[in-house]
Amino acid sequence: MEQTVKGTVYLVGAGPGDPKLITLRGLELLQTADVIVYDRLAHPSLLNHARTDAEKIFVGKESAHHVVKQPDINRILVGRALAGKNVVRLKGGDPFVFGRGGEEAEICHDAGILFEIIPGITSAIAAGAYAGIPVTHRDASSSFAVITGHERDDSRESGTREPGQAEQRRNWAHIAYAADTLVFLMGVENLHEITSQLQKYGRDSDTPVALVQWGTWPKQRVVVGTLATIVSDIHNAKLTSPAVCIVGEVVRLRETLRWFDDPAARPLFGKRVLVTRTREQASTLSDLLRSRGADPVEFPLIKIQRLDDYSSLDSELSLLNAYDWVVFTSTNAVDIAAERMDKLQFDSRTFSSCKIAVIGPATAAALWNRCRIIADYVPEEAVAESVIENWPDQNLNGKRILIPRAAEARELLPDALRKMGAEVNVQHAYETIIDNSNTENLLDLLRTHQLDVLTFSSSSTVKNFVEALGITDNQELSELLSGCIFAAIGPITADTMRSYNFPVHIMAEEHTIPGLVSALERYPYVK
Ligand code: SAH
Repeated sequence: MEQTVKGTVYLVGAGPGDPKLITLRGLELLQTADVIVYDRLAHPSLLNHARTDAEKIFVGKESAHHVVKQPDINRILVGRALAGKNVVRLKGGDPFVFGRGGEEAEICHDAGILFEIIPGITSAIAAGAYAGIPVTHRDASSSFAVITGHERDDSRESGTREPGQAEQRRNWAHIAYAADTLVFLMGVENLHEITSQLQKYGRDSDTPVALVQWGTWPKQRVVVGTLATIVSDIHNAKLTSPAVCIVGEVVRLRETLRWFDDPAARPLFGKRVLVTRTREQASTLSDLLRSRGADPVEFPLIKIQRLDDYSSLDSELSLLNAYDWVVFTSTNAVDIAAERMDKLQFDSRTFSSCKIAVIGPATAAALWNRCRIIADYVPEEAVAESVIENWPDQNLNGKRILIPRAAEARELLPDALRKMGAEVNVQHAYETIIDNSNTENLLDLLRTHQLDVLTFSSSSTVKNFVEALGITDNQELSELLSGCIFAAIGPITADTMRSYNFPVHIMAEEHTIPGLVSALERYPYVK
């Protein structure tokens, strides 16, 4: 009988939340895994790295109730690996810090399945780091201990082994002085017990304490108090799990070391910003937003669809030496043209006899990255009007211009170039089609007022937004969107927004993605 080669189980630490805090090895495994088994403390956007055909299984754990019980998780890991799949078990923080990584590795060992452990950045250290609280400091602390705040071992619920032996031995006299800095995980529900025991066993009631909820996530919240006050402080602030509790003098350093959630340094901190660009384009905007503290929520409303037949574009690309100019009005157009060139086995010398104009810096960058070609002309502002106004040669009599672009684009640019005397050939390079696979989730976020800012980076994103939502009643639409701040990349997009009766609170001065983000930063949000 044919034997299936067994797969490997990789216990991968996803890091504490910020999706950039995963290791290179973890990322590499995510990109190649057949199966990804993940829980709620791993940032969902990490799954964007997965192969599109990878099986993704959510086994989200919450401290109060386990969505999928541990024995079932074990069965999934072992079952998939026995079937020959490579499985990434993606765990929040580090797999061996209260992550049951040890147990899962034991199960693999017992089943004769190969496994690897990929450490991750634990929330025990990172939540403090993002709150401006170092676990050690030469002046304040020379040791730290990481302690579970759970009274009982939660393995009892899932019946994997005898109830929490470690818990029964809990010795508060020992814990209170285990280290200068004490970091409790899973401690929120039990905070009263923790703080009273520490005081009972000699820790000063004035000892500073911080709770960091959703550390390293854009929704991070921090409450600072003392052993005496923190229980009522978090009650008043309604701070709940998941949070780490840091006890010790190092907490005072937050006053000077606060950075991630410091509104002065990162004005967009905590703002949830809808990004409606295509999956391919979204990341630049999202990265920039994230670096300014915002929480980008990506809902690609359109996707780029390649054409069935490229014979027409291909034949023009074969005749490029008969053109004076090629104009790229989007990064997609550059990507598709480059793809066709690859297919045709043409290299960048094909462009040597013509000049190239691009709509803006992002397209110029794509042209450089994809083809190693420097654009001859980038207009001051990334709109068709500016392309024409500042065109280097206003007399285009007898000049031939090729524009590969979306099937459904504005005629303004080709028309104006024709008026200037050029012979313009517009070639369809791709279509944009509505992607409404995520509409329900988007509607949910809007209904529950979870989005602060809606960004639109082109007229088509506005149209697609309305179409994807599928709400025809104007009244209903404006109620749904009330309370959101609307941001446009430029005047054309703003006009389109107004045509749907949307307000335009923010308009970028420079009509680029960085321009849009600066405009978002300058807006006077009222709390
Ligand atoms: N293996 C994980 C810990 C899992 S136990 C790690 O190394 O980080 C789950 C507990 O971790 C939560 O109850 C909470 O106390 C803590 N935790 C995990 N991620 C967190 C985060 N981003 N912010 C604050 N606490 C977090």
